[in-house]
Amino acid sequence: MLEGLGLPPRAQPFTSAVSAWRPYALAVALALLAVAIYPIGGRVTAVIAAALVGAVLVSALLEMNFTPNPLRWVLPKGRSQNVIAVVPPTGEVRRQAILVGHLDTHRTPFLFGSTARLRLFGLLSPLAFGGMAVLGGLFVAGAVTQESVLYFVSLAPTAVLLLMLPLLVEADFTPYTAGANDNASGAAVVLALAERLKEAPLRNTEVWTVHSGCEEVGCYGADAFLREHRERLDGACFIAIDSVGGPGSGPCYITREGMTKRYHSDPGLVALAEGIAARRPELGAYPKVMSIAYTEGAIGIKHGLPSITFVNLRPDGVLPYWHRPDDTVVNIDADVLARSEEFVWELLQGIDAG
Ligand SMILES: [Zn+2]
Repeated sequence: MLEGLGLPPRAQPFTSAVSAWRPYALAVALALLAVAIYPIGGRVTAVIAAALVGAVLVSALLEMNFTPNPLRWVLPKGRSQNVIAVVPPTGEVRRQAILVGHLDTHRTPFLFGSTARLRLFGLLSPLAFGGMAVLGGLFVAGAVTQESVLYFVSLAPTAVLLLMLPLLVEADFTPYTAGANDNASGAAVVLALAERLKEAPLRNTEVWTVHSGCEEVGCYGADAFLREHRERLDGACFIAIDSVGGPGSGPCYITREGMTKRYHSDPGLVALAEGIAARRPELGAYPKVMSIAYTEGAIGIKHGLPSITFVNLRPDGVLPYWHRPDDTVVNIDADVLARSEEFVWELLQGIDAG
């Protein structure tokens, strides 16, 4: 398709994790191992258990923020690729923009099966993280005081982890979704914008299109792209487009995302989006904070680029058909998709105007 547009695509191979769930399943399993080790041999095993839980908790938090950690080092990897093309402007290059839409799809875990289950997931995740922190604290106190009651207290957070572990393991045994919304919609918008840009290039903005791999397992594709090209793209606007065709939604621009650390979209790009939303009310655009998951926008922010993400959360915060078997093309709203494309097109014009 890019070839047909006269935009010779380049494949960028990279290595990635193969599962979003396994690092956390391993973390919880190791924390439970620490609970088993703790009472075996007095102070020595109490210290070992405390150190193990501490290491696992820090690793899981690093994992959540796309940072190398021991959980990543030991788990299996696979090969993937990004597909990159560059659309030159008509005049001199004064600015750059990057449009990113991931090509991979997620599995269909039990926890994503309904809105109620997603709420349960939203409740259990911080409880599990908090539980590991509590376990670490109790084991440190136990190593110092050798107080046996502390071990009985530790069984409460242990119960949460025991509930969490099978749910984390189950996810990797479910089939992949077709991913019409997440993220054929985003990949298609990037492609459609490439086509429009080829027909009507910007004046001074060079646009890179990136169809990325392995977003769903920790944004490995977007990270590999920026690690290789960051120096050539200093100051480039990083625009992630993900799940933009769900019924009753969007266009929705994300002002802030992240589950532990907060990733803020660029204030200038947010202001530009606000301006477009006000100037073109018929597009129906609105802002949202996204605290239920990460997107590739966080990778742009992590690499210090002015970034903004489009994820069409509904006004009530629900992402339609997210990681479900029914995320299929019949559940895509063509009007939402077209308005989202138009909105990003306007954003590109605004960036080009400086
Ligand atoms: Zn996605």
